[in-house]
Amino acid sequence: MQPKLMLSISEIKSLLATPQKIVITTHHKPDGDAMGSSLGLYAYLIQKGHHVKLITPTDYPYFLHWLPNNSDVIIYTEAQEESAKLVEEAALIFCLDFNTLARINDLGELVRASKAYKLMIDHHLDPEDFDDYRHWSINACAAAQLVYDFIVNELEDGAMMNKDIATCLYTGIMTDSGSFRFESANAAVYRIAADLIDLGAEHWRIHQLVYDNATENRLRFLGHCLSEKLEILREFNTAIITVTKEELQKYQIVTGDTEGIVNYALSVNGIKLAAFIIERTDKVKLSLRSTGDFPANEICKKYFNGGGHRNAAGGFSDKNLADTVQEFKALLTDYKNQLLQ
Ligand code: 5GP
Ligand code: MN
Repeated sequence: MQPKLMLSISEIKSLLATPQKIVITTHHKPDGDAMGSSLGLYAYLIQKGHHVKLITPTDYPYFLHWLPNNSDVIIYTEAQEESAKLVEEAALIFCLDFNTLARINDLGELVRASKAYKLMIDHHLDPEDFDDYRHWSINACAAAQLVYDFIVNELEDGAMMNKDIATCLYTGIMTDSGSFRFESANAAVYRIAADLIDLGAEHWRIHQLVYDNATENRLRFLGHCLSEKLEILREFNTAIITVTKEELQKYQIVTGDTEGIVNYALSVNGIKLAAFIIERTDKVKLSLRSTGDFPANEICKKYFNGGGHRNAAGGFSDKNLADTVQEFKALLTDYKNQLLQ
């Protein structure tokens, strides 16, 4: 895909040379990369003297609330009128860690309608054509890596990097690369991480704040999922964990508590595909993880209104939990050869 040429980097540089009204937004239920890349760019742009607002479509996990400038974040569902006004009046809107407007719920149509320049910084497949500038690569391990590249190499403004920016971007890279263990965490990523540490990112503290910060409920819920809810389908090298609304209530699960549970299902030897299927209030949400070449995103796109990366994808179903699980199990037959390779 060719990068968009409507807005060149030199035009962006001259736009950013004077204070602008800027909105940054990121995907529904933001994760570490969504918040890390967005707050990293936020810290950069406020330092440059812009009027910046970060609007998230929904709330996000408590283990990200320590990020620098977190208290400035506006959550759309809690401030709809204010958000709509900000989007309408913005001169530039940065869209981070997503590339289709459906990923930001009701904010999507507001962004589409806004006269602002839209700048996409993203690493997912199949970008939608709504942007005026695109810094996009599916080879990037995280949107935060692309924000680093945008500031340092595109804007040539590495001198403005500081500890807050570095802390946020390190968080995004760490979380989306599975703590630097995925294939996407190549030598270039480690060099960026080293630079971020030089700039003041405390890698040990960031890891602790994100991963050793769980609620007691989450740990007990995880135990329940692993002992009672894990289903291994050896004939498909697939593992499934399903969770009902009642279980979420019983363990008082809040945003962030279910994060990463799917990875435990994938950690079973021989398992190539893992699914975490959860009954939310409005719909059933699926989180898939796979190993090697198996295209988890293809399943999400084809059957569950979603998408993502080859090895980490998600989607949802309007069917009930039992029917969704049944549909998922039935489709495995089509992938049997790939799953048993
Ligand atoms: P998770 O399983 O952690 O919710 O999401 C894993 C990845 O799948 C995300 O990084 C995102 O790329 C993708 N993803 C999750 N849910 C959706 C969805 O509803 N639609 C699309 N297009 N991608 C999703
Ligand atoms: Mn990401």
